Amino acid sequence: MSERSVRSGGRLLIVGTPIGNLGDLSPRAAEALATADVIACEDTRRTGRLLQLSGIEKRPLLVCNEHTEVRAFGEVASRVAAGETVALVSDAGMPGISDPGERLVASLLERGAPIEVVPGPTAAVSALVLSGLATDRFVFEGFLPRKGGERTGRLAEIAAERRTVVCYESPKRAAKTLADLVAVCGPERRVAVGRELTKLHEEVVRGSLGEVAVLLADRELKGEVVLVIEGAVADERAWDDERISARLAELIEGGSSTRDAVAQVVTESGAAKRHVYDLATR
Ligand code: SAM
Repeated sequence: MSERSVRSGGRLLIVGTPIGNLGDLSPRAAEALATADVIACEDTRRTGRLLQLSGIEKRPLLVCNEHTEVRAFGEVASRVAAGETVALVSDAGMPGISDPGERLVASLLERGAPIEVVPGPTAAVSALVLSGLATDRFVFEGFLPRKGGERTGRLAEIAAERRTVVCYESPKRAAKTLADLVAVCGPERRVAVGRELTKLHEEVVRGSLGEVAVLLADRELKGEVVLVIEGAVADERAWDDERISARLAELIEGGSSTRDAVAQVVTESGAAKRHVYDLATR
């Protein structure tokens, strides 16, 4: 291991914090927070509590949440230029992963500011490695859009995706999203639902999409949830008219509108939209 722990000097330090278990705050992350001139955080109360529970003395806090991130650019940049160390944290896990941070980092890079990372837990990778599904290639979808064409389009992309897919979801919406995934991916694909990872009630429900959707439809899920969905198995058959029509019929029987089914089959097959539409409406 290198003797360097956390260098001092003007820089932004992106610091990962626990996703539920305080014991996951690394010694290097604790040192980064304890020695930062200022901590840019989403919520001052949450970060204040993290410092307190970790035995770290109070530090000046600067709010950098989804509303203030752009406004914080200037202050963070001038502090870094003046030689200060600014630590960036989010409420939990890695900043920038479905949390503020991405735009701040891009803005500081544009200004030539030094940036380092103190890596920590993230729910997406934690759920992925627990899932039992392929970890060699995966995609992170963050939170799916809640409704409309944007949601339909993203679900269609997931149905066609060959790599393992990781999605964040609220516990209240998990059953609906699983049902939507069954409709677009079919019931056979495997899924793992990671809940309350690293916490007292940690649980991973694994099975086929059909089984898990039924199981969780009857349960009131509590806590935080990640969905990990097996990639589509390569189907080397050609997308001839017979296969396109069969897939359209399967999706429409599963509850998709003609429009959504056409959009999905276009994504899956790469066939011309006009042709798929003709097959769907003849
Ligand atoms: N920045 C965080 C990270 O690195 O994982 C993610 C923040 S995002 C606002 C919050 C979402 O992450 C939750 O809705 C849930 O999907 C997931 N999540 C966070 N902590 C979790 C945990 N302990 N168990 C399961 N999912 C979790």
